[in-house]
Amino acid sequence: MALRLHNTLTGTLEPLEPLEPDHVRIYSCGPTVYDRAHIGNFRTFLWEDLLRRYLKLRGYRVTQVMNLTDVDDRTINAAIEQGRTLEEITRPVERQFFEDWEALGLEPMEHYPRATEHVDAMIELVRRLEDRELTYDRDGSVYFAIGRYPEYGRLVGLDERDLASAGRAEGDEEYSKEDPRDFVLWKGGEREEGDVALWESPWGPGRPGWHLECSAMSMEYLGESFDIHTGGVDNIFPHHTNEMAQSEGATGRSFARYWLHAEHLLVDGGKMSKSLGNYYTVPDLVERGHRPSAIRYLLLSAHYRTQLNFTLEGLAKADRALERLEEFHRRLRAARAPEPSATRGVEPDRASIGELSRRAREAFFSAMDDDLSVSDAIASVFMMVREVNRELDRTGDRLTAGDGESALALLGEFDAVFGVLSLRAGERGDADPALVAWMDERIAARQAARDARDYARADAIRREIEERGIVIEDTPDGTRWKPVGEAVSAVDTTD
Ligand code: AMP
Ligand code: ZN
Repeated sequence: MALRLHNTLTGTLEPLEPLEPDHVRIYSCGPTVYDRAHIGNFRTFLWEDLLRRYLKLRGYRVTQVMNLTDVDDRTINAAIEQGRTLEEITRPVERQFFEDWEALGLEPMEHYPRATEHVDAMIELVRRLEDRELTYDRDGSVYFAIGRYPEYGRLVGLDERDLASAGRAEGDEEYSKEDPRDFVLWKGGEREEGDVALWESPWGPGRPGWHLECSAMSMEYLGESFDIHTGGVDNIFPHHTNEMAQSEGATGRSFARYWLHAEHLLVDGGKMSKSLGNYYTVPDLVERGHRPSAIRYLLLSAHYRTQLNFTLEGLAKADRALERLEEFHRRLRAARAPEPSATRGVEPDRASIGELSRRAREAFFSAMDDDLSVSDAIASVFMMVREVNRELDRTGDRLTAGDGESALALLGEFDAVFGVLSLRAGERGDADPALVAWMDERIAARQAARDARDYARADAIRREIEERGIVIEDTPDGTRWKPVGEAVSAVDTTD
C-alpha cells in the first residue's frame, strides 16, 4: 500500500507520488530566530522529523530544507530595542535552536538557509513577478496585486472577505496599496542611522517580505516544483497562500504538490505562543527534571492533525510509557535461548511469537501509511510488548534467537521513526551512544557464549569490557553496566 497523506490543497488523503520516484523533496517552514523556540514550535518540527524518518524507512531518499527567518519585524524590533545588529540577535538564537534540535534527537536536514543570505534570489523573484505584471511599486515598496492573479487562495478557498486581511498580517501600510488585500514583496525603507536591515534593490533600499523568503529559498534548494511543503496550521493563511501565489505566479508552474499542516500544541485549551507567555522551552522542562526523550515522545504521540494539550502530567505519563518500552527492550536483549532438555513444557511458543511480531509490524506500517497515524502505530508496538512479556514470563526469559530478533527488529523500525529509545540510551548515565551500542553487542555476545557453555569466551568478553573501564553486574533482570569514574567517553568499535 502506498503512503497516503492529507493534502490541504485538495482536503483529501492522497497517495504520495514524488516527482522523482525514489526521492522526496520537502520544504519545512523554520523558526523566526528572535527568541528561543518553544515546545509548540518543536511539536511541528518533530512531526516534520517523523515524516522524514518514515519516508527514509520506506526507502526514499529525502532532501529537506528548513529556513531560518533571520530578518522580519520581530528580529528587527529586537535589534533596535537592544541596540544591537541583526546578527547579534539572531546568531545566539540559532545556536539555541540547534541545541534543542539535538537534545530532542531530530535528524539534521540537508539545508538550513538563512533569509539574509538569499536576498539576491528574492529580488530576482520579484523581478520575475514584475515581468508577468503581477506587481506594482509604491513609495519604494513592491506589492503583489492579488486582483491580477485569479488563482489566488487555492490553498484555502478563501472568500473575498477573508482575503481582505492577506496583507495586513505583515503590518503593510494600508494607504499605499491599490487594494487592501495585496501583500508586500519588497518593503522599502529609508537609510537612516540605526537601520539594522536594509539591502540595495532596483526599487531602492529595503528588505524582503516574509512570504518571499520561503518562496525564494525553497525554489533555490528544491527546484521550482517539488513534493511536500509543511508547517503549522497558522501558516496556511496568509503565509503559505501568499508563498504559493508568488511562486506559481512567477514560474507559471505548480509549486509544492502536497501541503501538509500540523495542528497546534495547546496549553489550557489555547495555542502555546510567545505572545501569550504560556510556553515552555526545552531547557525550561529539563531544569524541572524532565528528559528530552519524554518530551519527544509526548509531542510525537498524538496525530499531527489533532491538537495536543500540553500538561506536566502528560509529560510524566509519556516518561513512564517510555520506561516500559526501554525495560522491554532490555529484557528482550537479555533473553536467553531455551535449553531444550530443561525447559520441556515451557518452551517458547515459536509460531505465536513470530506470528505476533509479523502482525504487529504489519499494523505498524499500515497505520503509518495512513497519514502517519501514530496512535495506532504505537498501539501495535505496545500490543507486541504485552504479548512478548507474557511469553517471557512463561518461559523464564527464554526466547529462540529468531523470535527475539523479530521482536527486536520491530522495535528497531519503530525507533528509526520515533527515535526515542536511541535518544534515551544517550541520556542514560550520560553514556556515549556509541558506547551503549558497543555494550549492547558485547553483552549479547557474552550471553551467547554462556548459553553455549563457552565460559572461556564469556570471561574473555568480560575482561575486554573491564579493560574499557566498565563494570558489569549480572542481575535477575539481565546484565547491568556502568562506566567507572570518567573512564570511557568514546569507544573505538573497529577492533
Ligand atoms: P515561527 O517561529 O513563529 O515562525 O514558527 C515556527 C513553526 O512553529 C511554524 O511552522 C509554526 O506553524 C509552528 N508553531 C508555532 N506555534 C505552534 C504551536 N503552539 N504548536 C505547534 N506548532 C506551532
Ligand atoms: Zn515559510
